[in-house]
Amino acid sequence: MKLEKNYQPDIVEKKWLARWGETFYAFQHNSDKPAYIIDTPPPYPTGDFHVGNALNWCYIDFLARYKRMCGYNVLFPQGWDCHGLPTEVKVEEKHHISKTQIEKQQFRELCKQLTRVNIAQMKAMMQRLGMSIDWSHEFVTMDDRYKRFTQLSFLRMYQNGMIYQEEHPVNWCPRCETAIAFAEVEYEDRAASLQYLLFKRPGGEHDAEYVEIATTRPELLASCVAVAVHPADERYTGLAGTELVVPLFEHAVKVFVDESVDPAFGTGVVMICTFGDRQDVRWWKTHNLPLITSIDERGRMTAAARGYEGLSVRDCKKRTIEDLEAQGLLTKREPLQQNVGVCWRCKTPIEIISTRQWFVRVLHEEIKRASEQISWYPEHFAIRLRNWVDSMEWDWCISRQRIFSVPIPIWYCTRCGTVKVASEAELPVDPTVSSPKETCSTCGSTAFKGEEDVLDTWMDSSLSALWVAGWDLNAGQPSSSIPFPVALRPQGHDIIRTWAFYSILRSLALTHTIPWQTILINGMVLGEDGYKMSKSRNNFISPDEVIREHGADVFRQWAAIGGAVGSDVQFRWKDIVAATKFMQKLWSILRFAMFHLAEYQPPAAPVEFRVVDRWLLSKLTRLVGSVTDAMEHYKFDEALKELRAFAWNELADDYIELAKSRLYGRSDAAGKESARYALYETLGTLAELLAPFSPFFAEEMYSCLGRERSVHTTQWPAVKQELLDPEAEMQGNLIAEIVRAVRRYKADHGVALNAPLRGLRIYAAGLETEDIVNATATEVELCSPVGAEKPATSAMLDVSGTKVEIITS
Ligand SMILES: [Zn+2]
Ligand SMILES: [Zn+2]
Repeated sequence: MKLEKNYQPDIVEKKWLARWGETFYAFQHNSDKPAYIIDTPPPYPTGDFHVGNALNWCYIDFLARYKRMCGYNVLFPQGWDCHGLPTEVKVEEKHHISKTQIEKQQFRELCKQLTRVNIAQMKAMMQRLGMSIDWSHEFVTMDDRYKRFTQLSFLRMYQNGMIYQEEHPVNWCPRCETAIAFAEVEYEDRAASLQYLLFKRPGGEHDAEYVEIATTRPELLASCVAVAVHPADERYTGLAGTELVVPLFEHAVKVFVDESVDPAFGTGVVMICTFGDRQDVRWWKTHNLPLITSIDERGRMTAAARGYEGLSVRDCKKRTIEDLEAQGLLTKREPLQQNVGVCWRCKTPIEIISTRQWFVRVLHEEIKRASEQISWYPEHFAIRLRNWVDSMEWDWCISRQRIFSVPIPIWYCTRCGTVKVASEAELPVDPTVSSPKETCSTCGSTAFKGEEDVLDTWMDSSLSALWVAGWDLNAGQPSSSIPFPVALRPQGHDIIRTWAFYSILRSLALTHTIPWQTILINGMVLGEDGYKMSKSRNNFISPDEVIREHGADVFRQWAAIGGAVGSDVQFRWKDIVAATKFMQKLWSILRFAMFHLAEYQPPAAPVEFRVVDRWLLSKLTRLVGSVTDAMEHYKFDEALKELRAFAWNELADDYIELAKSRLYGRSDAAGKESARYALYETLGTLAELLAPFSPFFAEEMYSCLGRERSVHTTQWPAVKQELLDPEAEMQGNLIAEIVRAVRRYKADHGVALNAPLRGLRIYAAGLETEDIVNATATEVELCSPVGAEKPATSAMLDVSGTKVEIITS
């Protein structure tokens, strides 16, 4: 077989993609092999499978391919998490409409169309990258089957008391006009100003009877329901228990003491409004305070704000400050850097508004205990989940006032208000379109109004493990062929508080067990400049750019070697160049080998090995051991580094130089057979070890070697103890070192590398010398190591303690 001089990734990769097709990696439903089920992330179909996604999927694919070769029946499914705000916004932009201008159904249809196009684009990139996905297990959360699953899970959790409806303060985006969960609130540092206002003591008229209070939110004065001081703050002893009059609004509020007041902030006196921030919600609850809502769902002031009604929050703040100043109730203003909660989607500062919403109960301790039963890799990420659970102050708000999402399967009786939950047979259902089959259980009425709110999209994606496992929400058990908990959840650290957290919560609520045995966390991809990749920074790389020029195998090697799993990984072109060089080097080795291995069949009878061949095979066996160990511990970078080092150093630089003559030789048939066997065995094993990382190249290599099976359906190489040979390794290392030393000597003395020297005397016992003779083109005399002396006419080299004498005359 004659191979092209240069490796051509584009041709080779496309050839194998066509041969593998979509069914090559299908999960076997009737198989005796142990199952390895992956709860693959269903990405949001933006249309762009970016380099961060690609890193995550490379890790998944390394494992999927490795486990498959280790004899597991691997399920690597792929889903799409379709619903949500970003698509709604895109549709509005694309069609120049607002969601309120067209029928909801029509709007949803436009969202679906866009999603389908985007899925197709991302799927094409996953395939081009060589992901061994089982496409017969694809799922799309906007499809009826999945929607039914989500709604059924709502029913089950409603029935077991895990879902309830309540009027409660929630995080609210006034621009998107929807409730959002804690996980959707991002924090940004913004410049604010601290206003010092005067609250009057009742009846007081002169200076001493005012109390100064600092606040960043004077526009909430209408909602001020109390004032608090720290119990140990001596400045305010005697204030607690009294009442103060709120400036401008003139209503009286109680002063109480609370340990959580910070005496160092402002004047040490704090006004409590419903609601300025999360701390207000805490105080409101613990002190059982009244609720005055002054901001509505569109971010406008309500009637409670009296003269400010209808103003935006910002305008109200400005007017309030002017009015306070005019009345001499504003004493000073100070600039302040503030950490403000903003909407994840539109960056508008969120408000905390009390509304009627649907909630999922968060059982803090149960979730923390469950997370301890899961093995986290890297381990330190487990604490992020624990901290997140501890920081949640109220339950998970799952209702959204949006359109493109799974409807909440609920109606309300228009006569008596009783909640009517859809029956299982009615699912999937849009309660705003269809009516329930039964009458109201309380009053017998047949008139219902469907719930307009839809579900948080995490209600879909947090079921992915259950969906993949084919969990039967009726029978309360997984499908027979798939074990549960599933084996692996791979995901980014940016969605621990969302996807990981919600998935554990839902699995506990629906199955009473953890969703997966292991969670593998990946980091983010940084640009070449070390900063987070972003289009505005112009440090953005798309996988496509790399693949077009260098191929998917090379991209995948960057993913493996760029950094340890869990750490943020920098994209570096030099890693791409190094991977490209490695592919070319391995190709050259293969090309050389194929000259000697065409039509080669390993013999049935044991081979009489030469020491250098035993040395190579022993080293190869060690490589198999260390790569396997690295794969078992998700150390993809170490696995690939070892593999590359072996191929460059042991195989290319040393072994091929040593064994070349025997391979070409005609007289020494036994020596040639020994070398051919070692080379064939080594290249086959290298292809197997490389298969998870660079599946195209490995397949091409395997096929060149005349192996009948695909490398991806073969067994992962075992550590063959009988090939471990410490004695041969010692001798082989020495032989390789001697040859390198002699070549260095030749180079230093202006002797051509293939030119013979007069002779070599090696002071070592029992060393096999034929490959030294071949590689140095010089006769070798083996002498006793005892009494080596440097004769005047010779150069004496010290090769790791062994004396090598170069006879020059
Ligand atoms: Zn928003
Ligand atoms: Zn009724």
